[in-house]
Amino acid sequence: MTRPYYIAGNWKMHKTRSEAAELARTLTVKLKDGKHKYLVAPSFTSLETVGAIVKGTNILLGAQNMAAEEQGAHTGEVSVLQLKDLGVQVVILGHSERRHTYKEDDELVNKKVKLALRHGLDVILCIGELLSEREAGLAEKVCETQTRKGLEGVPVSDLARVTLAYEPVWAIGTGKTATPEDADAIHAYVRGVIERLYGASAAEKMIIQYGGSVKAENAAQLMAKENIDGALVGGASLKADTFVPIAMFG
Ligand code: PEP
Repeated sequence: MTRPYYIAGNWKMHKTRSEAAELARTLTVKLKDGKHKYLVAPSFTSLETVGAIVKGTNILLGAQNMAAEEQGAHTGEVSVLQLKDLGVQVVILGHSERRHTYKEDDELVNKKVKLALRHGLDVILCIGELLSEREAGLAEKVCETQTRKGLEGVPVSDLARVTLAYEPVWAIGTGKTATPEDADAIHAYVRGVIERLYGASAAEKMIIQYGGSVKAENAAQLMAKENIDGALVGGASLKADTFVPIAMFG
């Protein structure tokens, strides 16, 4: 089957509201005729501004994280209800910066995944190994564990609202990219994990993005691989000049 390509921009902790608005406005124009699925994930502070600009276009509004609880005494956190109130459609969960800098474990990520799905948000669940884990031959095992634990308790009926993003931690923001062959091998392995968990049809439909220093120069080669169905883009998503060629590839 042919899966749609899904290209997402993760703006991380960059951009004021006016800067975010400017980029969002440019993207709505330049991606208007794009044939893939698109998402931008600005900081929480710019969600409302960017949401108003992308509303009704072919660009989805994403958040970069959310709390594991619905509401309550959680200083500094942002809840699923607040995201929905702003028109957020998708939430990125388990990003490596959340896992490694902010010590989010699989259990917490799983709680967030289930909460987001329960409230009707789509999820991009990020997985990926550290360099030390790759060097120890553990890349598949780490990705399998993060996938299994991240999706624990998620019924097959919700799976169509989940996208996986394979982001080897050593390739994020470092300029190093996995070779298309290495990335595809992990994607194929993870698709096999989904097949074992949910069956062949669900595995076949699962969109698995690659992330880690994706740029215009390597995007097409990566996405030409059978199991690579899109990209989660950090650095290169911060400017239209670098994001649009990735988004319009093919
Ligand atoms: C990311 O943050 O998800 C990412 C892949 O970043 P970069 O493209 O900058 O490596």
